[in-house]
Amino acid sequence: MTFMPAKPAIHGETLDTLTARLTADGHPAFRARQVLEWLYKKRVRSWAEMSNLPRPLRDWLAATFELDPTALVLSRQSEDVTDKLLLELGDRSLIETVIIRAPQLGVGQENSRKTICISTQVGCAMGCRFCASGLEGLKRNLSAGEIVHQLIQVCRQEDSRTPRARAELASFDNLVVMGMGEPLHNYDAIIRALTILNAPWGLGFGARRITLSTSGLVPRIRQLADEPLGIRLAISLHGATDEVREQIMPVNRRWPLRELIPAVREFSEKQGRMVTLEFILIEDVNDSLTQAEKLRDLAADLHAHVNLIPYNTVDGLPWKRPSVLRQEKFARVLADARVSVTLRREKGHDIAAACGQLRLKTERQREPSTTA
Ligand code: SAH
Ligand code: SF4
Repeated sequence: MTFMPAKPAIHGETLDTLTARLTADGHPAFRARQVLEWLYKKRVRSWAEMSNLPRPLRDWLAATFELDPTALVLSRQSEDVTDKLLLELGDRSLIETVIIRAPQLGVGQENSRKTICISTQVGCAMGCRFCASGLEGLKRNLSAGEIVHQLIQVCRQEDSRTPRARAELASFDNLVVMGMGEPLHNYDAIIRALTILNAPWGLGFGARRITLSTSGLVPRIRQLADEPLGIRLAISLHGATDEVREQIMPVNRRWPLRELIPAVREFSEKQGRMVTLEFILIEDVNDSLTQAEKLRDLAADLHAHVNLIPYNTVDGLPWKRPSVLRQEKFARVLADARVSVTLRREKGHDIAAACGQLRLKTERQREPSTTA
């Protein structure tokens, strides 16, 4: 399922695996840290720039690894709030990485919160009825290197906005694994990528500022509960009863709520973390007050935070978001019971929602030329 390029991306190597590769070919172990420093602290664009490495080692690296597994083909800004990067992979597949700058109330733009949203697969196999990413099924998994390289692209994008200062990944507040794909369906690669993202020899991004969102792959949620990483978890719930949830999320037939909820509880307890329940509000599908009451009970029982997200329309799909009044009534049911709840309103917050749509458009536009 994972595309096997001629050379693996160097960004998929951990300190351990890179050390092992180097020493197996007769290079000293300490070179691994030097290479990683060039990659993540200095962010060089060519092997030649790794000036403290002997020439034969640089040649070996160039022959063994890919340095740029993704290429920027398009970046699109909307109202200075989101920056969508459309990236092309070695096999011409397209993925999206999004930067969101959400201004904080009463604070200047320079103090806005910055979030990065990354993709984990090309397409998605889960087939949620409302989602652009799943419309054409799963094409393939991303490798760990392709996942990590999205962050390198994000840093480069920031550099182009502020030509004099070099952007640091640490200047971002949050990183959400909410782009295209189901991250827990590509488990090993996402865990490895998050390890590299988080490690001091890697990108050094704090695990507490990373949120992984899943449609509810129960065995993998349990496995994640035992990982030492310390990331946050969000569950795409979107239905507070099996009846409603399985209408829009086929995954619910495999893992219904009676299996999903205990797994979420296990994660929350083992990790000592409040979990987020995401609930996109879709008119006449899941926006009834009965659903609000059931959601309130589930959230209260799990001590979970609820994120209500007005549905973002997708070309070709019939779903709509409810009126603001209806959204607010729904939120009120939860707030009145002192459940921690947010209702997203700002445009820039339609993050993940929009993720997958740019790629779909471009993919469809170029279809005739790729099949000719
Ligand atoms: N596959 C994972 C993560 C990617 S989707 C998951 O499903 O959780 C990230 C979030 O965007 C999910 O909560 C998903 O349900 C939501 N989403 C997808 N399409 C949307 C749309 N059109 N409007 C609003 N949210 C959407
Ligand atoms: Fe896949 Fe998530 Fe979209 Fe469902 S919502 S199809 S799991 S990306």
